[in-house]
Amino acid sequence: MTVAIPIQRLSSQDANFKPKLLASLSLPMADDAAIDAAVVNILKQVQSEGDIAILNFTKQFDRLNVNSVAELEISKKDLEQAYLQLSPEQKSALDIAAQRVRTYHEQQRKEAGCHSWEYTEKDGTRLGQKVTPLDRVGIYVPGGKAAYPSSVLMNAIPAKVAGVQEVIMVVPTPDGARNSLVLAAAWIAGVDRVFTIGGAQAVAALAYGTKTIPSVDKIVGPGNAYVAAAKRRVFGTVGIDMIAGPSEILILCDGTIDPDWIAMDLFSQAEHDELAQSILLCPDATFIEKVQASINKLLPEMPRKQVIETSLKNRALLIQVKDMNEACDIANAIAAEHLEICAANPRQWAEKIRHAGAIFMGNYTSESLGDYCAGPNHVLPTARTARFSSPLGVYDFIKRSSMIEVSEAGAQTLGQVASTLAHGEGLQAHARAAEMRLKK
Ligand code: NAD
Repeated sequence: MTVAIPIQRLSSQDANFKPKLLASLSLPMADDAAIDAAVVNILKQVQSEGDIAILNFTKQFDRLNVNSVAELEISKKDLEQAYLQLSPEQKSALDIAAQRVRTYHEQQRKEAGCHSWEYTEKDGTRLGQKVTPLDRVGIYVPGGKAAYPSSVLMNAIPAKVAGVQEVIMVVPTPDGARNSLVLAAAWIAGVDRVFTIGGAQAVAALAYGTKTIPSVDKIVGPGNAYVAAAKRRVFGTVGIDMIAGPSEILILCDGTIDPDWIAMDLFSQAEHDELAQSILLCPDATFIEKVQASINKLLPEMPRKQVIETSLKNRALLIQVKDMNEACDIANAIAAEHLEICAANPRQWAEKIRHAGAIFMGNYTSESLGDYCAGPNHVLPTARTARFSSPLGVYDFIKRSSMIEVSEAGAQTLGQVASTLAHGEGLQAHARAAEMRLKK
């Protein structure tokens, strides 16, 4: 059985192509003000009532009624049990994914920016940068509508590779239903403590601390609109990684691949939620028709067809471009979270890409491999923020301190420079502190 899924078509030759494209990229207005008001109330209550507020909100939103927050903590022994009770296939898949994510992030840690460094000037003055892992980090693992063991690995492993001493994980368990893959992933990733709480109340607990839940220095991880609004609000009290929006995939294709593969790759992001965005850029009009036919043919087979169909109707685009060079220019303007280049020579086009969260090159690199097990992080900038931000990485779990040790000789030259500039700013104490160290 096939169905006809109406997907918006554009051509780069259309009049007003650019404004039409930009309009299609912007998200429909959510009820942000109502969500924000609810979140402000939750944050205030957790700040003033601590554990009591956590218990009340967990009962209200997750239908989980317990007498103390301690009952919401999962012991390390239970995490280990969850791992040991997995099927051999699940255990092996989780082990392989975790190892690959660890190896990739260990390599990332070796790169510049993750290590301390120092240099010495001729007069003996030493300057450098000291890198220190964060002390305690909170990771939010979403759990309202689905369970995400891969998110546990992607958030916790880079933190541990960076050397974070304590990783506190929060995950909602609606109706008390614990997901054993999520708990097993926490065990493999070396998470230190797990609390089964979610939403804005979990973000508040991590930011402010309660009697039972320790406050952290930074909160990372994706979540729904309540989680995102709460992270925005607690930023400043704690660090945050980013505010993640709905998932996006952009496929650049020269038409040399099975159109079924492209259809399924578009589905793979569309199935996340109704606001996810899937876009195809291709110079070959006949191939675009083939992809449309594949979509119509394959959709009825998909268990999540309703979500996929709504997402495709709402936000998908099939765009005919002049050639692959133009496709790269448009891809840079879109700055997608996931960019697939399905072409005979993908690296030729990847060189032209400046803005994308992750670039998947070649017909065998489906984006879904990156979601689970290729190794690079799947927490990526969305909503065009790839223009200025990067995937979650080891560098998100370290901070840098500047190191300055001025020699006696160095103080003679620098003292005069500082004194002149300090007098210019009218800051006497600054000037005199430098001058006192000058030889008479
Ligand atoms: P979630 O854990 O983010 O949210 C569940 C919590 O929301 C509940 O515990 C509850 O406290 C709170 N909540 C629900 N309704 C509320 C209300 N009316 N008022 C106040 N609080 C309320 O789980 P979810 O809802 O399944 O959302 C997960 C999101 O994370 C999805 O959008 C998914 O696409 C996204 N996600 C992104 C990535 C990524 O890497 N970018 C990975 C996994 C999931």
